[in-house]
Amino acid sequence: MKFGGTSMAGTERIRRVARIVQRQQAAGHEVAVVVSAMAGETDRLVNFCREANPLYDPAEYDVVVASGEQVTSGLLAMHLQALGCKARSWLGWQLPVRTDDAHAKARIETIDSEALLASMAAGEIAVIPGFQGLTADNRVTTLGRGGSDTSAVAVAAAVKADRCDIYTDVDGVYTTDPRIVAKARKLKNVTFEEMLELASVGSKVLQTRSVSLAMKECVRVQVLSSFIDDDAPPADSIPGTMIVSEDELIGELEGLEMERQLITGIAADKNDAKVTLTRIADRPGAVATIFGPLAEANINVDMIIQNVAKDKGETDVTFTVPQADLARTQALLEEQKDTIGWYRMIADSKVAKISVVGVGMRSHAGVAGTMFKALADRGINIQAISTSEIKVSVLIDEDETELAVRVLHTAYGLDAA
Ligand code: ASP
Ligand code: MG
Repeated sequence: MKFGGTSMAGTERIRRVARIVQRQQAAGHEVAVVVSAMAGETDRLVNFCREANPLYDPAEYDVVVASGEQVTSGLLAMHLQALGCKARSWLGWQLPVRTDDAHAKARIETIDSEALLASMAAGEIAVIPGFQGLTADNRVTTLGRGGSDTSAVAVAAAVKADRCDIYTDVDGVYTTDPRIVAKARKLKNVTFEEMLELASVGSKVLQTRSVSLAMKECVRVQVLSSFIDDDAPPADSIPGTMIVSEDELIGELEGLEMERQLITGIAADKNDAKVTLTRIADRPGAVATIFGPLAEANINVDMIIQNVAKDKGETDVTFTVPQADLARTQALLEEQKDTIGWYRMIADSKVAKISVVGVGMRSHAGVAGTMFKALADRGINIQAISTSEIKVSVLIDEDETELAVRVLHTAYGLDAA
């Protein structure tokens, strides 16, 4: 079981979490719980580091920010004990959770689960602070913001858990953002691949890395709400959204008459910016001069379109980068102007990427066509397109985001009755 920051924010909420954990154990499970710091706490700690020294040592940053989770894990163990449960905390360095030494964004290498399993088998609930790890030379690390999700999946994999239940402030994964579309539906299940595509295009329910890890380790993950009453359905009856492999999904669907929707979800992401370079030479190697330097600067390019060459042997190239990297991108391209040989650079951060995602499109034609027609019918102009096997994304004017999401939700038959 994993509980996020909003679920752990304050005594009353931690008490509620303790009751949920107690009920789960009473249902006959051995339980390990991974917790986040209280909501807002990590931001507060990060700020202290910045104030101490803008060029802080990342190893010391980890010492500071890892502390938020130490507090909540101890408190949850106390609350469980107050309910009469046996419980103890296991800090990242005590298990230990071994990571590489990339401070502030470390990757988990191994988790020693022997002592943990023995304690759980003896009826003790294990409370583990998320986000924390330890390098080979015993320095504290953290896993990057949102990293507790990854801790939870890693612990679940290490103890070979039946399930990893991620309790959060939403009660599952929806067909789209319910704040935009009131008729959005909660999904019973989503495949790992779909979840990865949805996460990368802005529906941030889980840290993306936790989903990749769950996919690699075959951990069954359920997303569900911690804001529930005592009479709420038990987690074992899967009231949330299960994230499963495609095989498991197909197996489950065969038992049902109902076919799954072709499209699983629609996501919108306003965090990209569009850059166009005009009149690039239409010759081998020209685009390499653009994207080589960007790659070296660790700038992630997403959509790319190169127009058909005009008669003068010149072509325009358009691509998107994260808005946060736009200034650096522009500076780099300016620097490389002579090497690349562009004529004009046009940047626009008032764009949104709208994506339709679903494993169903692997075996169906016409998904993109439906999207383009639905948008055209509302006069929404498409500025760029990219596709994968299970996703079609378009770039549009940011002001039209909500309209586009609504129109597509209806067009693919996702609206709740
Ligand atoms: N407390 C950390 C953060 O805010 C880790 C987490 O909550 O997942 O990023
Ligand atoms: Mg989180």
